[in-house]
Amino acid sequence: MANEDQFKKVISHAKEYGYVFQSSEIYDGLSAVYDYAQNGVELKNNIRNYWWKAMVQMHENIVGIDAAIFMHPTTWKASGHVDAFNDPLIDNKDSKKRYRADVLVEDYCAKIEAKIEKEVKKATKRFGDAFDKAQFLQTNPRVLGYQEKIDSILSRLGKSLENEDLADVKNLIEELEIADPLTGSKNWTDVKQFNLMFGTKLGASAENAMDLYLRPETAQGIFVNYLNVQKSSRLKIPFGIAQTGKAFRNEIVARQFIFRMREFEQMEMQFFIKPGTQKEWFEHWKEHRLKWHLSLGLGEDNYRYHDHEKLAHYADAATDIEFRFPFGFKELEGIHSRTDFDLKQHEEYSGKKLQYFDPESNEHYTPYVLETSIGLDRMFLAVFSNSLVEETLPNNTTRTVLKLPAVLAPTKAAVLPLVKKDGLPDIAKKIVEDLKWDFNVIYDEKDAVGRRYRRQDAAGTPFCITVDHDSLDDNSVTLRHRDTMEQSRVKIEDLSTIINNEVSVKNWLKG
Ligand code: ATP
Repeated sequence: MANEDQFKKVISHAKEYGYVFQSSEIYDGLSAVYDYAQNGVELKNNIRNYWWKAMVQMHENIVGIDAAIFMHPTTWKASGHVDAFNDPLIDNKDSKKRYRADVLVEDYCAKIEAKIEKEVKKATKRFGDAFDKAQFLQTNPRVLGYQEKIDSILSRLGKSLENEDLADVKNLIEELEIADPLTGSKNWTDVKQFNLMFGTKLGASAENAMDLYLRPETAQGIFVNYLNVQKSSRLKIPFGIAQTGKAFRNEIVARQFIFRMREFEQMEMQFFIKPGTQKEWFEHWKEHRLKWHLSLGLGEDNYRYHDHEKLAHYADAATDIEFRFPFGFKELEGIHSRTDFDLKQHEEYSGKKLQYFDPESNEHYTPYVLETSIGLDRMFLAVFSNSLVEETLPNNTTRTVLKLPAVLAPTKAAVLPLVKKDGLPDIAKKIVEDLKWDFNVIYDEKDAVGRRYRRQDAAGTPFCITVDHDSLDDNSVTLRHRDTMEQSRVKIEDLSTIINNEVSVKNWLKG
């Protein structure tokens, strides 16, 4: 399936099976805002819990908080968002479409990168088992040429953005002859900066109203609370504070379903460390976070690190964990070494000391911070898009399966009486009553059992439990596995243990 078709299929499947709906659809929707439906909310909760378990509950030195979306407006002055949370935008004069200038250039580089991948594929075919990919990438003249081109473009883009040289960003777009992806027009406006924060007002009367922002990231709620948490928890450095919650950004280009939304959810952890130790912690969290991703079994080849050329104003090192979405490799999670920038800024703007007293070295210092920040909705899209497959079966029919990792699946099992009579529904309902204490399970008696299986396959349910006439005598049922379609006969009393073994967070996280 072509990637674009696959992506369309993902979006329509998400709607058809109750995962994601366009917000306010009856009013033709609101651009880049989405609602999670009955299955979507379960999947989203499960992803959030999987993260929370791994990041908070499995670490003695990490605790969670839930800060408010509204914060004192000076927060955003101090953090640099009022002055610097901008994206460079460019308009196409013919199509009137608006783009992020840096993304146009990055997409251009992604095309060159696709050429490298093509060369690798060709060489893999030619050399077979003897093929050494690392050596090929380091020595093949054509690949080296492509890579050099990418490096020089990205390094120039990085420098121009850092120096706020927007004229040069436009020059770069023109020199590379980048065209509007939708129309092919190369008639561009100048590049301008655009602040991404949403503003709102607090207060009843217009004169006394206070200008507020909807938070564009959850991190600042952690920074302003770090000393409160440290003192009330008596945690010692190194320690972390985590939270999940909504963030809002007035994104310029938001055309990729839940990949880039104007209202989205982040899962962030700020790790407070001794200055000078940031390099080792950066490496530690890079590795640790990738391990978390890999534990879900979406395929090692679908992840890669991307070190930043252009560092944000607060960072001394940054890397993205990128995922292979249906539209290519894109950022899924960011890992940033934020130095003491945020805490120092808050000290300056609030006039309050935010220093930590280190009982071991007997000194006061402002901690450095290592951040891991992942978009919950992006993670949802990564899991969902990767799981949706169309299989051709041995009898040449096809089936659509949503192979969600069982630990994240919204419904763990569907309980199906083979027929709607002879006491089978009673047994099935009793199984539902027992299992629902521990798992999200459903009862379904409508249609032939084969169709019910297909429906559950497409909805992502890892198990179907079928009650038939033999169940009346042997207290057993047929357990069908979604991915292999294998069926086995199991005792009703063993169901809970079998399912738990396959869906428990512990078993998945431990690997
Ligand atoms: P991008 O470069 O894609 O705009 P970013 O570098 O601005 O992302 P961060 O500020 O590092 O993103 O935010 C951390 C994480 O939050 C990202 O890795 C991403 O998963 C998620 N995220 C950021 N912006 C959005 C958005 N508009 N919609 C959904 N998720 C987002």
